[in-house]
Amino acid sequence: MKELKNKDLFKNEKEIALLSMFIEQNFSKEKRGWLEVVCGSMFSGKTEELIRRLKRAQIANLKVVIYKPATDTRYDKEKVVSHDSNAVPSIPIDFAKNILLHVADADVVGIDEAQFFDPEIIAVCETLIMQGKRVIVAGLDMDYLGKPFGSMPQLLAIADFITKLHAICVQCGHLANVSYRTSAEEGTVVLGEKNNYEPRCRICAAK
Ligand SMILES: [Zn+2]
Repeated sequence: MKELKNKDLFKNEKEIALLSMFIEQNFSKEKRGWLEVVCGSMFSGKTEELIRRLKRAQIANLKVVIYKPATDTRYDKEKVVSHDSNAVPSIPIDFAKNILLHVADADVVGIDEAQFFDPEIIAVCETLIMQGKRVIVAGLDMDYLGKPFGSMPQLLAIADFITKLHAICVQCGHLANVSYRTSAEEGTVVLGEKNNYEPRCRICAAK
């Protein structure tokens, strides 16, 4: 039997890199976009996972761009910064539709803190997918009250691949999925890290 080699199946190394991310991808030479959503509570490692995927794409010589909401200025205006300071440069965006003005010939588009973007982020992601781009969105699935956050429910619904990450409940050690607010402030958008929030499981969050 004739041995099949990768070079027979794939046009170039870029395709191999893309297809090897998800073995369920099709084998046609047509460039197809898709949406990956990485969700979870605060302290669950969403940004670290986004950066891990983007760095792997960079190693595969794919052109990568990263956007975050201009409102998220906790650490650094010019970079997506995960909590272990494993930074990847990014572009702050005020309105979601402006992503389409910047995106140009990027192969892979990362979007961090997607819950803070306006609802047009959904149409923007759909447009990027139809342009053949791999779109990786990271965001909080629930706010501090445990309610679905911003456009994340819709993005999860249209996603091709979903990864839900968990933090560890600091009260009991079980898996945490709530970003419990420890400060007295009200309103959904209160930025901040260890001073204002801690990861809790459902039971400890209800105490
Ligand atoms: Zn707990």
